[in-house]
Amino acid sequence: MTSDVHAEFRKIVRQVATERIAPHAAAVDEEERFPAEAWEAIVEADLAGLAHPEHLGGSGADLLSQVIAVEEIARACMTTSHVLLVNWAGTCTILSEGTTELQELVVPQVASGQAGAGWCLTEPTAGSDVAGLTTTATKVDGGWSLTGQKRFISNAPWGDWYAVLARTGESSHGVFVVHRDDPGVSFGPHERKMGLRGSPTADITLDGCVVPDVRVVGDPTQGYGYIMAELNGSRALIAAQALGVAQGALDAAVAYTTERTQFGQSLSRFQMIRGMVADMAVRVASARALLHEAVGLIESGHPDARAKASMAKLLCSDNAMSVTTDAVQLFGGYGYIRDYPVERMMRDAKITQIYEGTNQIQRLLIAKAVYAGVGA
Ligand SMILES: Cc1cc2nc3c(=O)[nH]c(=O)nc-3n(C[C@H](O)[C@H](O)[C@H](O)COP(=O)(O)OP(=O)(O)OC[C@H]3O[C@@H](n4cnc5c(N)ncnc54)[C@H](O)[C@@H]3O)c2cc1C
Repeated sequence: MTSDVHAEFRKIVRQVATERIAPHAAAVDEEERFPAEAWEAIVEADLAGLAHPEHLGGSGADLLSQVIAVEEIARACMTTSHVLLVNWAGTCTILSEGTTELQELVVPQVASGQAGAGWCLTEPTAGSDVAGLTTTATKVDGGWSLTGQKRFISNAPWGDWYAVLARTGESSHGVFVVHRDDPGVSFGPHERKMGLRGSPTADITLDGCVVPDVRVVGDPTQGYGYIMAELNGSRALIAAQALGVAQGALDAAVAYTTERTQFGQSLSRFQMIRGMVADMAVRVASARALLHEAVGLIESGHPDARAKASMAKLLCSDNAMSVTTDAVQLFGGYGYIRDYPVERMMRDAKITQIYEGTNQIQRLLIAKAVYAGVGA
């Protein structure tokens, strides 16, 4: 259940998103460019540091507030929501495991919106199987030397700081904070994507990049565990992103079917249309309810949080795909034309079923928890 404070916060973010983010969403997609106007609005509204503690320049908001902000921003422009939540993902292990010195080096810049961040798990041959990564970190005098290639890195090369998961032994991994300008760091070209087209995505190649000891996150043998511990929160934020794009498509479809007339009456009077809209509304409401339940479990550290976060990510993203596809259908031929927002929303929604663990991987995790519950 959201409190009055959360409801008021939602209103504030919706206003920023409606007035300053939505008007640029189509151009950002069409031109495949960074959402500069939207980012300025986020920084001015003090939303960049929502996930960061106050003593490091953030606002120390709870996870539910972060989820609400991401939903409302994604409702207007999913690309912009991605830039924001990836900044938080890039700094989350630094917050949970980094030294004070490392936190003070990186977090205030990101919380103020002056710097961007990303996290680097995926590699050309290690996607769903993250543990199969081959990037290595080798101890050298005063730091660690990183060599390997990271694939599909969101916020690259726009971001300044990247949390890189690298192998430090046969079965140990560390998280190392790489700066964009470090010697030995280079970026691949911007990926040309189906959707989320304004969100920077590129490979990062590390070629003997030396990261000083101060930029090692916690214990350099425990990095895999640090990343896994953050996935509940990051999956909740991806679920929120999916929910936001679904809500945006539903709202657009309701407005369109109310205005458009065929056979002498508003589309909204036809029973088949009403049935579709009802199903879409149920998909959005049920996705939000499960997401908020998952957020409650994550915030209280409940043992079921892991499975519930997977369920929320799965339901929100599958429902987003279904709702945005139905929205295109309700717009008829206009839904297929790029002058209207729903075709962008449908293209954007697809990635939410793929990243942060594909939905097949979420199903594996959920089934594992279900069987564990009966001792199997
Ligand atoms: C736009 C975009 C942004 C991204 N941002 C980031 C980022 O910022 N940082 C980062 O580290 N990564 C990022 N990724 C990578 C993303 O998380 C991976 O693409 C995703 O985890 C899937 O890995 P893969 O692409 O290698 O697919 P694969 O793992 O090769 O999977 C291919 C197919 O096989 C299925 N599959 C795999 N294993 C199993 C199994 N055991 N059982 C059943 N089915 C299985 C998958 O579900 C999928 O359908 C991004 C990707 C994209 C496209």
